[in-house]
Amino acid sequence: MPAKRAASSWKFPGASPLRANLIPSPHMRWGFVLEQESCIGCHACTVGCKAENDVALGSFRTWVKWIEKGEFPDTERHAAILRCNHCEDAPCIEICPTIALHKRDDGIVDLDADRCIGCASCMQACPYDAIHIDPRVGTAAKCHFCAHRLEVGLAPACVSVCPEEAIKVVDLDAPGIREEIGARGARVRKPERQTRPQVFYTGADPSTLDPFSVDGTRTLSHSEVPNPMPAPGVREARAVYDTPKPRPWGNHIAAYMVTKALASGALLAASVAPFGTDMSPVLLGWISIAFTVLTILLLIGDLHQPQRFFYLLTMPNTKSWLVRGGWVLTAHGAISLAYGLGIGLSVLWVIAIPTALMTSIYTAFLFRQARGRELWCEDAWLPLILGVQAAAAASAIAWFWGEGIWGEGSGAFLFLYAGITVASMLSDQRTQGAQQAHHAMIEHPAFKLGLLCAVLAIVFPPLVVVAFALIDWIYVKAGQEVALS
Ligand code: SF4
Repeated sequence: MPAKRAASSWKFPGASPLRANLIPSPHMRWGFVLEQESCIGCHACTVGCKAENDVALGSFRTWVKWIEKGEFPDTERHAAILRCNHCEDAPCIEICPTIALHKRDDGIVDLDADRCIGCASCMQACPYDAIHIDPRVGTAAKCHFCAHRLEVGLAPACVSVCPEEAIKVVDLDAPGIREEIGARGARVRKPERQTRPQVFYTGADPSTLDPFSVDGTRTLSHSEVPNPMPAPGVREARAVYDTPKPRPWGNHIAAYMVTKALASGALLAASVAPFGTDMSPVLLGWISIAFTVLTILLLIGDLHQPQRFFYLLTMPNTKSWLVRGGWVLTAHGAISLAYGLGIGLSVLWVIAIPTALMTSIYTAFLFRQARGRELWCEDAWLPLILGVQAAAAASAIAWFWGEGIWGEGSGAFLFLYAGITVASMLSDQRTQGAQQAHHAMIEHPAFKLGLLCAVLAIVFPPLVVVAFALIDWIYVKAGQEVALS
């Protein structure tokens, strides 16, 4: 194990002593410098953090990843201490619907568990796998810099227990500190995600910080963990210890996408029904309400704190597309009710059509805020696909009345849906994570079967619902299975 162990004698200008007499000041801006050249990979920081913060069994706020290179006997092991980066541009804060996550004036990204509804959207937004859901209470949890200790002049627990003093707390506003950090060649994790991390690494082997440089098959020290979505190509480095989180979103979210598309389709069909068709706008209004209610129930059912769902209305983060989506669904339900009650049938289409399309499309904006999931947030096709999906759903619903929404027979939108699905399948992906997930998605049998159903729906429209279910399911799944750390 030829990992270097040169203890650092370097002192940070402006840094306070770390084991005692740390004087907090409102003018400080906290950051970590992690000296990997000193780290021996002992996991003391992990244990100290768990003890100090009562972290649940099997969950971690900070952990030490090991990677290995070479073949016996010429092997190397490298470690990296991983945790929340207290990003300057923190995507977890942007997406959090209830302002549970917030940035303090001293730079710490903190979490107020009393506001958390357990939607796990922060886990999707964080590109670093730094957040988990505490299984005991169903709310998010992460490194909070041991703010409670800093406030009384103590160093974070991980700093106190590290036997090598490899974890340094620094005031990033101290004169010259950022220049010093830069001069030491410090790196941050995934700078290309543009979150501006405030945790800096010196002496780290690059492969410990870049999950794409590590072989997809994880042969861990104590177990074998097959990677369901291995990166193509051969990597020199292997991850032998890591703590990847489970996929936060599952079948509920895939089902929600399908019911939402059907709610949108029913409202679109209702909006054209009064104009020379045999369709009943009143019945379509009630169908739209039924699918809207189902959509909302699926969303609430996916929360780890479902009884707090109303926090979306009472303490909203208006920048979060979870909140904006809630507003759109509320408007959608109200307009559908007007159709159901037969009110304003000749004029409602003016607001019904844009609202129905927005109901379908807003998920693309939500997924764009999920900056940890490159398949979703880099997907330029998704707004178009979801818009066409709503129109295709309308065509399938209209088919039961023997009507076409656009053109005769099955309707051109079904043809368009099949075409756009093929086009997105053939599209180039801009980032490595998106390429890896996209490749895994289109190779999966569910996608191939979904595509076949999309094509067959041109002649038998109800099949398009099966296409939605299969394609949305694999899209949600594949997006989450690229390693984040
Ligand atoms: Fe921490 Fe992740 Fe949020 Fe950045 S995005 S502040 S690493 S939890």
